[in-house]
Amino acid sequence: MTDTLDRQAPRDSQDLVSPGTVDTDRVTDLVGQLLAAIGEDPRREGLSDTPARVAAWWRGFFSPEPTATPTCFTEQHLSGQLVVIGGMGVWSLCEHHLLPMNLDVAVGYVPEGEVMGLSKFGRIAQQYAGRLQVQERFTRQVADQIAVVLGSNDVAVAVRGTHLCMSARGVRMEAARTTTVQAGGRFESDPVLSQQFLTLATDRWRTA
Ligand code: ZN
Repeated sequence: MTDTLDRQAPRDSQDLVSPGTVDTDRVTDLVGQLLAAIGEDPRREGLSDTPARVAAWWRGFFSPEPTATPTCFTEQHLSGQLVVIGGMGVWSLCEHHLLPMNLDVAVGYVPEGEVMGLSKFGRIAQQYAGRLQVQERFTRQVADQIAVVLGSNDVAVAVRGTHLCMSARGVRMEAARTTTVQAGGRFESDPVLSQQFLTLATDRWRTA
């Protein structure tokens, strides 16, 4: 939870990796080959359309709705108010196993003269979920992008992840959840603000 935002340049090359164009025909072909390689008959009835269906899914996964320019609204007299937007669930793919992870995202910020349209937080989360990810990087990327849009480092992001690579393979721990927190600006320096954010952001996780 200690990290300063560097809004001048991405911190690692992964930030530059935005989803490329999916070669749907090639993916269709490769999924057919995969089915054959695991001992299946890709031509049998139940599987004949599977490669094309899987290819279409990959294309959709890498093409989340384009992020519209985030809208900020001028709103004076909000000095020091904490805003927390929680319950934003997105699906991503773990880059180590190509298995789904469900990420429950909460964002906190302190408006200074401007508030951001609420749905934009969800769109930013969707944008960074639509690529091969690890939860830690996703958390930072969402925080960095919101800080850029708001023009302020007073941003905190908490994410609770359920990873199929942990619950359905390997150790098979179904109840395991991973929580990551990225806090910048006042969320880093003000323990009271930080605690308020964590209490509100993680409230629903205590019972779920
Ligand atoms: Zn994994």
